[in-house]
Amino acid sequence: MVYKRRKYHYGDTHLKKKWRTKRRTKDLDQIDEDLKPQNAEKLLNQETDLDKPGSAQFYCIHCARYFINNTALEDHFRTKVHKRRLKALELDPYTIEDSERAAGHGSFNFPEKRKIETQPHKDDEVPSKRIKQ
Ligand SMILES: [Zn+2]
Repeated sequence: MVYKRRKYHYGDTHLKKKWRTKRRTKDLDQIDEDLKPQNAEKLLNQETDLDKPGSAQFYCIHCARYFINNTALEDHFRTKVHKRRLKALELDPYTIEDSERAAGHGSFNFPEKRKIETQPHKDDEVPSKRIKQ
């Protein structure tokens, strides 16, 4: 049996993907908020949530993603997506002050560059665990 074609063109899917809500992750300015020490602490030590992948115990704070286990998380740290994200987060997020400066109020200054590093590995926090293995 031949089904009627549902799709007639495919060229623009990648543009829409970013705005899909199913796998919508946080925007960079929201992640910037998460990177503040008091928020980061909370996100990296989340309570066990069985609805989240890996019970919310393996979270990449820069990409706002959950991983199923430590291996998946470590693998993710080595991927292009993650490294690209670290680069994107190096610049301070665009603020209202920036837009006012662009409109001619105040003086322009370059967005501050900061060093963004991958969060501490879980294994590093518990050195005794590694010896046992
Ligand atoms: Zn990541």
